[in-house]
Amino acid sequence: MKPSRTVNLLLLKHHLRALCLTTVCAECEKAAKQCAADGIDHLGYLARVCELELIERERKAAARRLKAAKFPAIKTAAEFDFAAQPTINRGIALELLKCEFISRKENVLFLGGSGTGKTHLATSIAVEACGQGKRVRFTRVTELVTQLLEAREERQLLRLRGQLSKLDLLILDELGYVPASKLGAELLFDVISTSYERTSLIVTTNLPFEQWTEVLDNERLTGAALDRLTHRCHIVETGGESYRLKNSLRRRAGSASASPPPQAALASEQTTRDRERTDR
Ligand code: ADP
Ligand code: MG
Repeated sequence: MKPSRTVNLLLLKHHLRALCLTTVCAECEKAAKQCAADGIDHLGYLARVCELELIERERKAAARRLKAAKFPAIKTAAEFDFAAQPTINRGIALELLKCEFISRKENVLFLGGSGTGKTHLATSIAVEACGQGKRVRFTRVTELVTQLLEAREERQLLRLRGQLSKLDLLILDELGYVPASKLGAELLFDVISTSYERTSLIVTTNLPFEQWTEVLDNERLTGAALDRLTHRCHIVETGGESYRLKNSLRRRAGSASASPPPQAALASEQTTRDRERTDR
């Protein structure tokens, strides 16, 4: 006696689960009906369910990579208004969004004032990289330095270095807000130095090069860090005018009756920025 359809289906689902083919397991009946309706043969059916499995696995892997990257907020290039920041070289930014620089182990430096889109663009590039299967980690420089100092204290520095060395792209956000201690600066330099020609770095900073000594504590270290970072590096200047500030001024100008004078808007934006800096 031939096994019934129900028994076959139960057996099939059991095998699929044992093989960890969860999407095939979930979709096999629906796909079978669809293929029967479309006149697709057995091989075609098999190809279809395998493709569904692969698509779902890739989706989950991309979601895992995004989570592992620890972005403070997901930002995409589609949300970026290039017309609002004319200082930014759009051609270079679009080229960087292709992420080919990561395969070439090159670096990117976003240089400009607060609120000019440095973190937004760095995140957009890194989100693209996650979509392309790259291992990415986003960190503020102050956070990384704290993490390095703690790891050293707990004799976990090698482990942390090992984790960082497995990355394809490391984003060092906000270099320059808080000067690092001497030891912190050395540990940060070590990360920059180890990444050289192995892991791409994206650094965002509001500091012109001549002021980097303030963060890295001494001139020799600063020179060596700059040398490694800027060798094979794309420098994108984002200008000095804050997008947030421009936007809030425009919004306030729009709501004419309730609009405060520009000085008040400026003061309010300044307060927001100061608060953000304090939060950091
Ligand atoms: P920075 O890192 O240079 O201080 P951010 O990238 O954090 O600035 O930008 C501040 C805010 O303004 C963010 O919410 C960001 O998404 C937004 N922003 C900045 N520039 C643009 C732009 N050109 N188009 C759209 N949003 C922008
Ligand atoms: Mg920023």
